[in-house]
Amino acid sequence: MIPEEIKQEIRAIVGPDHVLDSELNRFGYSYDASFVPLLPANKPDLVVRPLTTDEVSRIMVVACEHEIPVTPRGAASGRTGGSIPLKGGISLALDRMTRIIELDLRNMMVTAEAGVRTIDLYNHCAEKGLFFPPDPASWKFSTIGGNVAENSGGMRAVKYGVTKNYVMGLEVVLADGAILRTGGKAIKNVTGYDLTSLFTGSEGTLGVVTRALFRLIPMPKRRGTLQVMFRTLDDGCRTIHTVLQSGVVPAAAEIMDRTCLEVVSRHRKTELDPEVGACIIIEIDGDDDAALETQTKRIGEAAKACGAVAFRAARSEQEAEEIWAVRRGLSSAVAALAPNRIGEDISVPRDAFPEVVRRIAEISEKQGLPIAVYGHAGDGNLHPSILCDLSKPGEMERVHQAVDDIFAAALSVGGTLSGEHGIGITKRPYIASALGDIGVRTLKAIKAALDPKGILNPGKIW
Ligand SMILES: Cc1cc2nc3c(=O)[nH]c(=O)nc-3n(C[C@H](O)[C@H](O)[C@H](O)COP(=O)(O)OP(=O)(O)OC[C@H]3O[C@@H](n4cnc5c(N)ncnc54)[C@H](O)[C@@H]3O)c2cc1C
Repeated sequence: MIPEEIKQEIRAIVGPDHVLDSELNRFGYSYDASFVPLLPANKPDLVVRPLTTDEVSRIMVVACEHEIPVTPRGAASGRTGGSIPLKGGISLALDRMTRIIELDLRNMMVTAEAGVRTIDLYNHCAEKGLFFPPDPASWKFSTIGGNVAENSGGMRAVKYGVTKNYVMGLEVVLADGAILRTGGKAIKNVTGYDLTSLFTGSEGTLGVVTRALFRLIPMPKRRGTLQVMFRTLDDGCRTIHTVLQSGVVPAAAEIMDRTCLEVVSRHRKTELDPEVGACIIIEIDGDDDAALETQTKRIGEAAKACGAVAFRAARSEQEAEEIWAVRRGLSSAVAALAPNRIGEDISVPRDAFPEVVRRIAEISEKQGLPIAVYGHAGDGNLHPSILCDLSKPGEMERVHQAVDDIFAAALSVGGTLSGEHGIGITKRPYIASALGDIGVRTLKAIKAALDPKGILNPGKIW
């Protein structure tokens, strides 16, 4: 518990309205969008909502002096428990830091505070014809601080990369309250270690990101949406390879299996062709209609050669919206299939995608648990969803075994435990098998150097 005089010190920094310690508020900050169970032990002692970098810095000075754990928090949309305060202390909510400081049109860069919602940053830049590509499906509520901390990706990663590909510089408050500024607007910058990259993806364990500088690119003038149906996932994966090898890089290429398609058609009360076993939704973009036509033609040829059973190009924005609505609604539609859904996030080399999907089907059969598979096939990032009922005896053990086997399958083909959701709490047990002892030792050495008292987001990653 944090003594009253320290609470008073913190209230004096941010104002009494922005320090919450009622039972209800503490409960509200004890969970996120992961499947980590609600536990009374995960409640913070205090929720603190600073407005400025200076306030964050002064809070960290107090926390450091008294060795109070601090867990940074954006929108708590994380899928791996990253913003859950495992050791009590302060839940540091950055949601009041919502200023977009500067849109620099000449350098095509934007600077914003950590609490800005991803979609707000996107819209702000889009109004000036500039494109901020990282687009996690959670972008309507996730914050850019959370995106940087998780190095989030999205559907357009296949062509445009992930958050780290756009971070040019950061303002970070360190564990002792010092304010570090990394990077800058110079495109080339090899002065010292690449600290910007170090903090990107560090899950709130090395510092509190208070501001980020992102590079932007010109907004593509035209976008098109294609939907292709296949008998098997293999045919869908082969199509994506063929398309990429033909020199066409789609902005997004999302794949879903038969289980997902059944869910969607049940949800929308439509008939699903019994022949169809997989679907890919592709977004293409370019500067004019001719560019879209060329890409549509090449993708159509590749799909036909790989055995597509149906090919549809959206003719209007409304049709495109309808097609994408299927993909966007998938996560919740799949979740509604069973009392519990354990969603995973593995990433594998693109050519191993079909092999891993086959292995997941075997794991599903072996454990007697349905597993729906969908994901970003264009970049090898899959989201297997284990559908289960954790109240059944022995179900938890079967789920754990299935998760272990899925991770083992990903690692065995040179893949990773996490494509975009981070390690947080849920993937801690697997970090050593993914990185090896020397890898984990190196992470720990960096952590010890930057946060010797271990107060920043303790209990995460390992
Ligand atoms: C429906 C849904 C869809 C999703 N789709 C995607 C997707 O397509 N791609 C994807 O990558 N992720 C996705 N996610 C996961 C999640 O939205 C992302 O990880 C997102 O970046 C988290 O942002 P947040 O603001 O909610 O961060 P939080 O969940 O609050 O925090 C996440 C982690 O970042 C740390 N953190 C937060 N803010 C800061 C800060 N300012 N400084 C330092 N550390 C900080 C926290 O301590 C925690 O460890 C999805 C989640 C949901 C619920």
